[in-house]
Amino acid sequence: MNDGGTAFPRTSLTVLRVGHCTHPECLALRGGGLRSATFPALVGLIRHPDAGALLFDTGYADHFLRATAAFPERLYRWATPVSLPPEECLLPQLARHGIAAHEVAGVFASHLHADHIAGLRDLPRARLWCSDAALRFARTPGRVARLRKATLQALLPDDVERRHVAIESCERSALPSGWRVLGDGLDLLGDGSLRAVPLPGHARGHFGLLLRHEDDREVLLAGDATWRIDDARRAHAPAPATRALSDDWSLQHATLAKLQAVLDQGDDGHCVLPSHCAASYARLPAAMRGTP
Ligand SMILES: [Zn+2]
Repeated sequence: MNDGGTAFPRTSLTVLRVGHCTHPECLALRGGGLRSATFPALVGLIRHPDAGALLFDTGYADHFLRATAAFPERLYRWATPVSLPPEECLLPQLARHGIAAHEVAGVFASHLHADHIAGLRDLPRARLWCSDAALRFARTPGRVARLRKATLQALLPDDVERRHVAIESCERSALPSGWRVLGDGLDLLGDGSLRAVPLPGHARGHFGLLLRHEDDREVLLAGDATWRIDDARRAHAPAPATRALSDDWSLQHATLAKLQAVLDQGDDGHCVLPSHCAASYARLPAAMRGTP
C-alpha cells in the first residue's frame, strides 16, 4: 500500500447535470416534506493529463426509457419520473466541452443503479471501473430481485466483462488527511490522482471518488452515500421509504456518520458532492458547473 498522503496530482473537474427525477421530498429524505423535489443526476467530467477524459457516472440516457418500457421494469419509471431535456443529454453536453463519445477513455461507476449508468452504451471505448461485487449482483438471476435494487441489466454494454476494471483490484492507498475517517482508498491510475473511496451501504459495491481539482480544492464525488447536503453542511439521512432499496441499512448510516465527520471539520478546501444534490451543485464555483 502506498502512503497516498504525499502524491495527490491535480485533475480538472467539470460537473454536468444529466437529467433529473422528481418525487416527494419525504420519499427520499428523512424529515422531508410532501412537496415535490427535483433530484438532478450529476456527472463528473474529469480531465486527466495522461488518461484523458474520464467520467464519474453517466446520469440518465434514452436507454433508461427503453429499458423501462415493459413491465415489471416500467414500475421503476413510475416510481421516479424522469426528465431528460435534449440540452441535458450527455453526448451533446460532452460535445459542448470539446469531447466526442469515442474520446471518453473511462467511466467510474459509483454503483450500478440505473440513474448512474444509463449512458454507458453510448461510450464505446470507455473502460469501466466498477465494483466487482456490484457487477456480480447485476448478473445474478432474478429480474424482479434486481429491479427491487434499481438494477437494469439491459443498461450494461454487451462487452462489459472485457471493459471492466474491478475497483477492488486497484492498489490500496491511504487517503489524504481530512478524509481518513473513510478508511483507505484505491488508486485507480497508480499516480494518486483518483482514489476510489468505499462508501458502503446504499448499494452493493458503492464507492465515491476523491480528486484534487486544479484550484487545489479536494472533491469527493459521493454518489448516493447521501442525497443532500444543506447550507449548514449537514448530510441528510435517507428516508425510511428507501430502506428496501438499501443494500445494508446499518452500513449506510455508518457511512453517513463518517461523511458527517468529514463535513464537521469545516474545511472549505474539502468538498463533498452527492450525485443528486441541487444545492451542492449550485454552490460549486461557476467554472466547475458545466451545465448552464
Ligand atoms: Zn443509487
